[in-house]
Amino acid sequence: MSKVILVINCGSSTVKYQLIEAVSETTIDGGVVEVSGDQGSAISQIVERCKDRDIAAVGHRVVHGGADFRDAVVIDDDVVKAIDACSNLAPLHNPNNLAGIHAAREKFPDIPHVAVFDTAFHATLPRRASHYALPAELAEQGMRRFGFHGPSHHFVTLKAAGFLDRDVHSMRMVSLHLGNGASACAVEWGHSTETSMGMTPLEGLVMGTRSGDLDPGVVLRLVREHDGDIDRVDQLLNRESGLAGLSGVSNDVRDIEAAAEKGDDAARLAIAVFTHRARKYIGAYAAAMGGLDAVVLTGGIGENSASMRQRILQRLDFLGLSIDDAANQDAGVSHESPVARISQPHSRVQGFVVKTNEELMIAQQTARLTGMHLENPGPIPIAVSGRHIHLDDETFAQLFGEGATPTHHADLSQPGQYACKEKVNLIGPRDRIDGVRLLAPLRSKNQVEISRTDEFKLGVDAPVRDSGRTRDSAPIVVEGPKGTVQLKEGLICARRHIHMHTDDAARFGVKNKDEVEVAITGGPRDLIFGDVLVRVSPAYKLEMHIDTDEANAAELPRRSDGQLVYADIDGFTAEIRTKKSA
Ligand code: ADP
Repeated sequence: MSKVILVINCGSSTVKYQLIEAVSETTIDGGVVEVSGDQGSAISQIVERCKDRDIAAVGHRVVHGGADFRDAVVIDDDVVKAIDACSNLAPLHNPNNLAGIHAAREKFPDIPHVAVFDTAFHATLPRRASHYALPAELAEQGMRRFGFHGPSHHFVTLKAAGFLDRDVHSMRMVSLHLGNGASACAVEWGHSTETSMGMTPLEGLVMGTRSGDLDPGVVLRLVREHDGDIDRVDQLLNRESGLAGLSGVSNDVRDIEAAAEKGDDAARLAIAVFTHRARKYIGAYAAAMGGLDAVVLTGGIGENSASMRQRILQRLDFLGLSIDDAANQDAGVSHESPVARISQPHSRVQGFVVKTNEELMIAQQTARLTGMHLENPGPIPIAVSGRHIHLDDETFAQLFGEGATPTHHADLSQPGQYACKEKVNLIGPRDRIDGVRLLAPLRSKNQVEISRTDEFKLGVDAPVRDSGRTRDSAPIVVEGPKGTVQLKEGLICARRHIHMHTDDAARFGVKNKDEVEVAITGGPRDLIFGDVLVRVSPAYKLEMHIDTDEANAAELPRRSDGQLVYADIDGFTAEIRTKKSA
């Protein structure tokens, strides 16, 4: 039965929830429950609504993770204490999030609960971006920049990279989350390196009711003019400013656009200040990153208002971003189809609208930390490769005679590959190894794969290489029945790798060139192999290849199985706990 993750976003007046199926990542239910009294009764109502579901884990949105939480975390009593300790950084949010965690842990005591922090994605901010120019000791007290909307920025930049079929780690992007709250984020090679919200969600872009950037002198003057009434100033900056304050109409862009269309000057000004500031951040972040590959707009305004997008992204051709007006007008995004490209085909920098899905991001992180996104992908068969040689046509003829062809001895597990009757001798400076088997079909390059122990015997030093990368590898003399050839290069110690069919890669949640760890357990000597290269092709069959030294270190028989324990997935370092194969 497929497992379901309950995602809870517990605020002061409402508790939002979604039920997300862990493997297919589909949302199967969701809603909002009003808080009357305390959060416990709202959570009880949610539990009642979910009573027919097999809930396997709960993911909680937590706004502030402070300096301690750099990633999502499985909740235990110590984590609860640490979240509580961050409450002074987000007094309006963390206590409510915690009340939800307490109530949900009481209702679901036997399943894992995970906290996903708004701030964690920005834990990678370099200190030049996280520091205010304040006396140094104030940073120690938490007066530094943290950033928010992390799950949203993370989600939309992954989606945009995925749309381009590019690795997020190969791109520099600016993401603009424009909802009631709004923030910009520079996502450089997959990591947040700048973001517009700071110690609190008040800094940065113009928002529905928040001012965003301000001369701190304004705050001082307001405090003075209100006789030190901090709550009043707080109310003014957080609830009466932004689009609502500027326009005097509403905090909702739909109302403001309607008023502006009728000629309301304050509404026009609100739109102009909002879009001007967003543009400024794009330029600033492109400069901070030293380049730009894509701009991604999301949030209620970014997803829905073509005219706001047009105002923000127009005349950025000098940066390499040329907007396609028709594509921008037509860009519709949904959870089913979350990405729309709005840049012109020739545009060097790509523009995207992406429908954000913070709940899905929370569910994904919950699944990742509890190992649920992969339904036991099963064992990986391990094959021990003895030393062997691949030859090109010319060298084969020199060793075995003109007109000779390789003779079939036995099929190998990879389709189309076979071991030959032909064998060669390797002659090194120290010693020789006789009877090294030829594998076929013949290739475009010679390659001799030996183990470290073979190297000692031959007296050579061969590099550890991926198969096929023989350039500048070690030389070796090869002796055949009809001749001897001095190979200038081609001798390698093969890097351990897993061949995977494309379907296997999907099942294991990895992609070509990922590096993974594979555990060998259940034998006389448990061992985890790191740096295992994943090689994916529709022509491959699932199998991990190690050499005889590696097999001996784990005391492996000729055929055995391993389990994937670690993979770098979608920019996460993921620990995958799989059931041991019986
Ligand atoms: P939150 O930040 O509370 O999650 P959203 O991301 O849902 O908010 O954004 C809500 C805002 O999106 C609304 O206040 C409104 O300004 C804007 N919005 C929603 N739909 C439209 C639309 N069709 N056109 C223009 N603006 C819209």
